[in-house]
Amino acid sequence: MTRILAIGECMVEMAPTVLVDTYKMGFAGDTMNTAWYLRRLLGPDHQVDYFTAVGTDSASDQMLGFLEQAGIGTDHITRRADRTVGLYMVQLNNGERSFNYWRGQSAARTLAQDDTLLTNALKGADVAYFSGITIAILPEGDRARILAVLATFKAAGGTVVFDPNLRPKLWDSKEDMTCAIMQAAAVSSISLPSHEDEAEWFGDADSAATAARYAKAGARTVLVKNGPAEILIHADDTITTINPEKIDTVVDTTAAGDSFNAGYLAALLQGASETEAAVAGAVLAGKVIRSRGALVPQAT
Ligand code: ADP
Repeated sequence: MTRILAIGECMVEMAPTVLVDTYKMGFAGDTMNTAWYLRRLLGPDHQVDYFTAVGTDSASDQMLGFLEQAGIGTDHITRRADRTVGLYMVQLNNGERSFNYWRGQSAARTLAQDDTLLTNALKGADVAYFSGITIAILPEGDRARILAVLATFKAAGGTVVFDPNLRPKLWDSKEDMTCAIMQAAAVSSISLPSHEDEAEWFGDADSAATAARYAKAGARTVLVKNGPAEILIHADDTITTINPEKIDTVVDTTAAGDSFNAGYLAALLQGASETEAAVAGAVLAGKVIRSRGALVPQAT
């Protein structure tokens, strides 16, 4: 039995429908999207749990119901009467999607207030999965606490997997973001950055520079995604590249990176090589971006 614990924030999503001013309620969020795909890809000998905090209201009940129905373990989700879950709304303006968020006071922002909760949730886990968004939503002291727990987990033999998922709007300054991201990279075994974002905020000249920076920070494996361009795998001081399949009909790139990470990790956990796992990640992401929405059941 392999147990994976994904850590972060799941939000209520209100997405437009074909009916004017009518929105469909769903649930999404980067780390949850990856957990959702992992659950669908892995067999019953793998357990996928989610770690977050939610409220005690009906929206929170519905979110837990959604996770449970998806087969994602909710035993380590804290419930707080004083908060609720975050929400975002997708709007379509001439075919372009834009997002509005209401998440400033979400329960998930308190997920690392008590570090014994995460320590307990990681007992018996093999893999911890988190992202730059997981740490961006936390107060500074809590961020240090969560990284310390993950460092202990890694030191004890656990695998820590990190997607930097840079979101400058969630940070007070560029310096806060870049500094915290590299602190998170330092406690990670596998880092899964996307070159385009990294080049913008860290000034990396190419994917090899992105990989070298994360490897130097402490990751044994760095896999650098780059939209439709070449994927670079830096593992045990060797560099390999693969090309994702060319896709002419990209419908919606939401969750391209999240699904890629799930496809890659699921393959790795089932014994694939780094290169085979990267191919599996690209194949899944390729299917996901051919359809609308973050969670595409027919892709798995
Ligand atoms: P993120 O969503 O984190 O920004 P990327 O845009 O780098 O991540 O995409 C992640 C993966 O999704 C890529 O490595 C690739 O496999 C696939 N992908 C994304 N966009 C395209 C595209 N236009 N054509 C083909 N594959 C794509």
